[in-house]
Amino acid sequence: MVFEAGTDPCPTINWNEDITDEQAEDSLGKLVGYVAGCGYSVEFSHRCHARISHATRTIHIDSSKGLKKMYYVLLHESAHMIINLKNTLPNGDVTPYVFLYPGLSNRKMSAQPLDTNRYMVSLVHEELDAWRKGADLAHVLQLPLDMYRYTQLAYKAVGTYIKAASEYCSEEI
Ligand SMILES: [Zn+2]
Repeated sequence: MVFEAGTDPCPTINWNEDITDEQAEDSLGKLVGYVAGCGYSVEFSHRCHARISHATRTIHIDSSKGLKKMYYVLLHESAHMIINLKNTLPNGDVTPYVFLYPGLSNRKMSAQPLDTNRYMVSLVHEELDAWRKGADLAHVLQLPLDMYRYTQLAYKAVGTYIKAASEYCSEEI
């Protein structure tokens, strides 16, 4: 998707105002439908760790969170799905993500510092991409999104990956 500077690509959506619980619930429903159309399902469980399993094609969402948080997290997890499927967005745009780290066939830490750095860097890269592409997805599906709160969530979530990466990555290779 190309956004031209100085133009509002989607004037019907207010990107900077909080959304209501009703809007979040409605968006959540539409997103679950979109995910189902891609061959994945969404499972809401109390106090589970939000995650995606490509093996079972299931996205797990913590149902103890508020509607807005569930909606934003599902946007992010849906972007992981798109990245994994190397799918196209509903508007026909091909998702630009490519796996930039060849050789990463199995996502495990390795005794080799280069492999560990590759793993951690690719993890952080995919996290950043999945948050950005989650916002793109909301845009394409014409769903409301409070970019401020969405990015606050992204900073917090990506921060945990960066913290882990800083602990495991080696400076001497
Ligand atoms: Zn993620």
